[in-house]
Amino acid sequence: MTPPVVELSDVGRVYDSDPPVHALRDVNLRVSTGDYLAVVGASGSGKSSLLNILGLLDRPDSGTYLLDGVDTTRLDDGQRTALRGSKIGFVFQSFHLLPYRSAAENVAMAELYRRGDRTQRARRAEATLDRVGLAHRVGFRPDRLSGGERQRVAIARALLGEPALLLCDEPTGNLDRANTEAVLDLFDDLKEQGVTLIVITHDDDVSRRAERRISIEDGRLSEESG
Ligand code: ADP
Ligand code: MG
Repeated sequence: MTPPVVELSDVGRVYDSDPPVHALRDVNLRVSTGDYLAVVGASGSGKSSLLNILGLLDRPDSGTYLLDGVDTTRLDDGQRTALRGSKIGFVFQSFHLLPYRSAAENVAMAELYRRGDRTQRARRAEATLDRVGLAHRVGFRPDRLSGGERQRVAIARALLGEPALLLCDEPTGNLDRANTEAVLDLFDDLKEQGVTLIVITHDDDVSRRAERRISIEDGRLSEESG
């Protein structure tokens, strides 16, 4: 049996401020391969704290986090960085594309520091752009793309290494309705392709499209059924 992609057990996170802030309390979450879930919550509810832990950018103060069966709480920083690079693709609200590079170069950038053949990498970058519906935009620079297309380039970049988990933080936060729809349609396609997706959002139209909806309030998770 394959382990869940994500397994959080009794995870807590307390910021060491004065007074201390309990940002996450007793968080339990299992995400299986191919799940598509949205995390919703008001500002200050703990969404970023959860994302930082899921993305191995921060460590829980209590509990355990298994990623693809690996107990990340036992790893040192170097091992966590390596695991993050191989297992997690990140997508952010602002696309973080390099302005003077083509879409294909921006995607290939994901593996800049990896060994491997350049032509091979360029070919895979183009194939990944095709996968997000942008085969006709490979040579375009970001300033010639719409907002939705820019976000799809950023998603292609995140997918290049075939991550076990795609973590998206307010991916449609900078997009108008039409471009939001295009990105949500892409998420549906990725879900069909078996990609595991976690989308953090405060937009109900976005969370409604996910298969599972988790809400977070004062650091506690609850899953909406149905
Ligand atoms: P959200 O992303 O949902 O807005 P956060 O995870 O950023 O929520 O924050 C959860 C709680 O933790 C809030 O009360 C916030 O003020 C607090 N918090 C976040 N980061 C820190 C930090 N580095 N130090 C102290 N408190 C923090
Ligand atoms: Mg936040």
